[in-house]
Amino acid sequence: MAERLVGVIGGSGLYEMPGFKLARELEVKTPFGPPSDKIVLGKLAGAKMAFLPRHGRGHFLLPSEINYRANIWALKSLGAEFIFASAACGSLSENIHPGDIVIVDQFIDRTRRRVDTFFGNGVVGHLVFADPVCSNLAQLLFDTADQLGLRCHRAGTYVCIEGPAFSTRAESMLYRQWKADVVGMTNLTEAKLAREAEICYATIALCTDYDCWNHSAESVTIEAVLKVMKQNVANCQKLIKAVIPQLPKARTCSCASAMKNAVITDPPKIPAQTKKDLKIIIGKYL
Ligand SMILES: [Zn+2]
Repeated sequence: MAERLVGVIGGSGLYEMPGFKLARELEVKTPFGPPSDKIVLGKLAGAKMAFLPRHGRGHFLLPSEINYRANIWALKSLGAEFIFASAACGSLSENIHPGDIVIVDQFIDRTRRRVDTFFGNGVVGHLVFADPVCSNLAQLLFDTADQLGLRCHRAGTYVCIEGPAFSTRAESMLYRQWKADVVGMTNLTEAKLAREAEICYATIALCTDYDCWNHSAESVTIEAVLKVMKQNVANCQKLIKAVIPQLPKARTCSCASAMKNAVITDPPKIPAQTKKDLKIIIGKYL
């Protein structure tokens, strides 16, 4: 059994933070092909950490091209019990401003062409996904952000679009009618796979702009957006570093047993190769 660790999926520079002790970079082989990049292993605030740059170092993968299954499988194989996922997003609300953090608690799926499950290849399972992020982890993130004095929202609905283009104005208006709060391109897919892998997952949405619904905000300069993005990364690093020492020694949430009754297929019917590929995901239930 791998030693338990904390996974972080985010931008390339996220692990370049004060106090992070880099140990090594690891190329992980998975049954689904390679993850986005080598995984950076090290220690932060006394915990074993694994950083994965979502779009690869140098940002060469489209949201549709990210091998989400490989990314989550790789972190699981290394022993990840928790994943913090940071992501830039657009605000759909007058109350969420550039520079704000949203601890997302719901998602709406507007993706079209990506694999978002470990099931298939002869095994059928249905995940209970009404509450798509770990509420314990989300609460801990919010409380800590609050203590640090960061502008942070406790809950929010994230519309996950396929990208790479941003929304049309009509779409942006529609998402506002749906009462969604932020729009992004990656986190729902990760949240689904992380839950299937029984990893506690929470999103730190870092707001950069107002998408395109807000006519009055359209004169914002590129310089202003870049400044916000830089500040967002610094805030996110500060938040993750402060949360790590507070993570529970033993998990009491339901994430750790999320797959208990999920598999529908009669075990003898599951192909041997599929069983092998998913051993670390559902092996204990077969
Ligand atoms: Zn959990």
